[in-house]
Amino acid sequence: MLPRAQLDVEAAMAAVAPVCQDVRERGADAVREHTARFDGVDLATTVVPREALAAALARLDPEVAAALREAARRAKLVHEAQVPDQSVTYVADGSSVTERYVPVARAGVYVPGGLVAYPSSVVMNVIPAQVAGVEQIAVASPPQANSGLPHPAVLAACELLGITEVHAAGGAQAIAMLGYGTKDCAPVDTITGPGNVYVAAAKRLLRGVVGTDAEAGPTEVAIIADGDADAGFVAADLIAQAEHDPLAACLLITTAPGLADRVDAELITQLATARHASRVKEALGGQSACVLVDDRDAALTVADAWAPEHLEIQAADAGDLAARVRNAGAVFVGPFAPVSLGDYLAGSNHVLPTGGTARHSGGLSVLTFLRGIHVVHSSAAALAAVAPHIDALGGAEDLAAHVRAVRVRVGQAAPAGADATAGGDVSARPAPPLRQDLIGRAPYGAPQIDAPVKLNTNENPYGPSAALVREISEAAATEAAALNRYPDRDALGLRRDLAAYLGHGLHARQIWAANGSNEIIQQLFQAFGGPGRTALGFEPSYSMHPIIAQTTGTKWIGGLREADFGIDQSRAMAAVAEYRPDLVFLTSPNNPTGAAVPLSVIGQVCEAAPGMVVVDAAYAEFARDQQATALTLLPRFPRLVVVRTMSKAFALAGARVGYLAADAAVVDAMQIVRLPYHLSALTQAAARAALARSAELLAAVQAIRASRDELTTWLRAQGLSVAESDANFVLFGTFTDRHAVWQALVDQGVLIREVGPPGWLRATIGTPREMDAFRAALKAVLT
Ligand code: PMP
Repeated sequence: MLPRAQLDVEAAMAAVAPVCQDVRERGADAVREHTARFDGVDLATTVVPREALAAALARLDPEVAAALREAARRAKLVHEAQVPDQSVTYVADGSSVTERYVPVARAGVYVPGGLVAYPSSVVMNVIPAQVAGVEQIAVASPPQANSGLPHPAVLAACELLGITEVHAAGGAQAIAMLGYGTKDCAPVDTITGPGNVYVAAAKRLLRGVVGTDAEAGPTEVAIIADGDADAGFVAADLIAQAEHDPLAACLLITTAPGLADRVDAELITQLATARHASRVKEALGGQSACVLVDDRDAALTVADAWAPEHLEIQAADAGDLAARVRNAGAVFVGPFAPVSLGDYLAGSNHVLPTGGTARHSGGLSVLTFLRGIHVVHSSAAALAAVAPHIDALGGAEDLAAHVRAVRVRVGQAAPAGADATAGGDVSARPAPPLRQDLIGRAPYGAPQIDAPVKLNTNENPYGPSAALVREISEAAATEAAALNRYPDRDALGLRRDLAAYLGHGLHARQIWAANGSNEIIQQLFQAFGGPGRTALGFEPSYSMHPIIAQTTGTKWIGGLREADFGIDQSRAMAAVAEYRPDLVFLTSPNNPTGAAVPLSVIGQVCEAAPGMVVVDAAYAEFARDQQATALTLLPRFPRLVVVRTMSKAFALAGARVGYLAADAAVVDAMQIVRLPYHLSALTQAAARAALARSAELLAAVQAIRASRDELTTWLRAQGLSVAESDANFVLFGTFTDRHAVWQALVDQGVLIREVGPPGWLRATIGTPREMDAFRAALKAVLT
C-alpha cells in the first residue's frame, strides 16, 4: 500500500453542483453572488480592464519578468515540437484518409489564486494553447479581496504573453462561467488549469459540455535514489514538493538504508530554515514515505505502481533507468534536473497527471487544444472496389440503408476496369501529401508582367557585348560537342577564374559556385541549418532568406533594422546573444533598401556569432566604397561566408551563376550537400567567357552607379525620400498608396517593384533611355 492523499472529488461535486447550475441558469448575476460569498468582493463585471494588465506588468519585478520571458521562450520551443504533422494515408488507389489537426476556437485557462499565486501556471497553460493555434484564450483567476483583481503576478504574466481577456473569477463559479458562458464571458470549448478540489469537481461536472485537461489532485514526487545520491539534493527536492500543499505526497524510493538515514538528517537540518515549514512537515508527516527496495528493478516497479506526477532519478545510469519508466507525468534525470527546473524553466510542461492517473494520461500539451479530424477521399472506382465489403458488414449489422447508400453510387455490381475519376473528377482526388508547413505557400517570384521598361528585378540593363556573345557561343559550341559527358563536378576552372577575379589572395579551394546565389544560399542552409537549427536575419531584407530557411526546416528569426534601414550594432549583438543562431545573414548591400552594412558591424557579428555568418553581397560591385568588402575579413573569420553572384554586375542573370568565398572547410561542406554535376558544362563555359571580359563589364557597372546617384538626386529634388544605395536600384517613397503609384507607372509602360517597407517602391537602374522613361512617367504620376 503506497501512500497518497485522498481527494474526494465526488464529495466536492455535491457541493459545487448547485453553484454550477446557478451559473448556468442566471449567468453573470450568479457569478457575482458566488464571488461575493467566496472571495468577499462584489464585482459588477468579471472582465479585468486591459489597463490593469499593462499596469501589473509595468510593476512586475524586472527579474521576474525576465524569468517568465525565458520560461515562455523555452516552453514555446518544446511545445512547437509537439505539433503533429498532417498525415495523408493512401489506403488504396483513389482512396485516402487525411488526418488534420485543428485547434479549438476558444480555450479557458484557470489560474488558482489560493495559497500561492502561480504566474508560471499561466505560461504552462497559455503557451500550448497559443502554439496549438487557439484563437481566443480567456484566463480566469480569483479576485483578491483588497483589489477585486486577480493576483498582480498572474495579470502581469497574462500581459507578457499577450493575453487580453482575463476574468476575475475563481472556484466552481469560474469553471461554470467558462463552460456555460455569461454576458461577460463567451463559453469556451476547452478548460485547462490546476485548482483546488472544488475546481476539479466543477471540471468533472462540466465534462461533456467542454473539453478539460486531466484532473489535478495534490502534487507529488517520487525520487529513486541510490547510495551515491546527494542526500542534501534529495532532501531539498522533497521539501520543495511538500512546500506546495500539506496534502503533497513525497516518496523516497531507495536501495540504500544509509541514504535514507542521511536524507532524514538533512530534512531536519533544512527544515529548520524552511520558509513554509509547517506545511512541509504536515505533508512529509502525512501521505509521504520512504520505501526501501532490494534493487533498481524493484525501485522501478514501485515507481511504476505509484505512477507519480514527478519522478526524479538520482542514481547511477539514471538515463537508462529513465528510459525504462512506464508510468510518470514527467521524469527528471540525474542530480542536476530537479523538479524545480521543470516547474519553471526546463521548457517541459508542469501541468501533469496526479493521483496515479499517469498510468493512462500524459501532461498538458498542444494536443489538449487540438483535435484530429479525419478527412476521407474516395473515387467512384475506389468506392466500387470496397462495396462488396460494405454489403457484407452492413448486412451482418442489419443496416440495409448503409448498404444502399453505397450501392446508389456505384450500382449493383462492382464495375470492372476503368477508374471513373481518370481524367475527369479531379476534385475527388486528394491533394498530394505536401509537408504541413508548406501547405498554402505560394511560389516566390516577382510578377512577370510584360512592360516596355522593366526595372523590377535588379537585372543589369546592358546585355553582353557582341564580342562576348560570340565568345560565349564559341565556348558553348565546344561544350555542346561533349554534352554526352557529365561536366566537371567540381567546376575547378570556373572556381580558379572566380578566385582570380575576386583577388584578396583567394584560392580556388576557397570558392564554390552554383546555379545562382540562391542555390548557394540553399546549400548553406542544407549544410549549416535544417531542423532544430536557427537562422537570424535583419529585415527588411532579401525575402528568399526566410523562404529557404523554411523549405529547409530551419527556424527563421527576423531581427529588425532601424528606421534608417541600418543595423544597430548593439541590438544585433543582443539578438545574436539571445538566439545563438546557427546562421546569421547580413545582406550587404541590402536588398531592397540599398545600403551596405559597415565592415565594423560585420566584424562584430563575426566575433559574437556562434555559427556561420553569411554576407550576401549580390550587389557588391555597385557599392560606393569598393575597399570596404567583407572579403578582407575572411582571413580572420573561418566561419564567414561571402556570397556573390554573376547575375548583376556581370549581366549574366540568365546563365544562373552564383558563388561564395570562404574558408576551404566551408567549401568542403558545400560539396557534401550539392547534387552531383549541379552546374552544367554550358553554364560553366558561359561564366568563364564572361569573367574573361570582366574589365568591359565592370565599366558598365560604373555607368550604372553614376546613373543611380543621379536618380537619387533627382528623386530627392521631387521631394521624395530615397534610401542610400550601394546597389543597382533605389528604394524611394513614401506613398500613402504605393500600389496606386506602382499601377500608374505600369499603365505608362514602366514596371518597378512593389517591395520593401510599407509606402516604399524599388526601381532598378536601367539604360539612360529607360531612366528617362521612368522619370517622365513618375513625374506624370506625381503631378
Ligand atoms: N541575394 C540577393 C540580396 C538578391 O537580391 C538576389 C536576387 N535578386 C540574390 C541573392 C539571388 O540572385 P541569383 O540567384 O540570381 O544569384
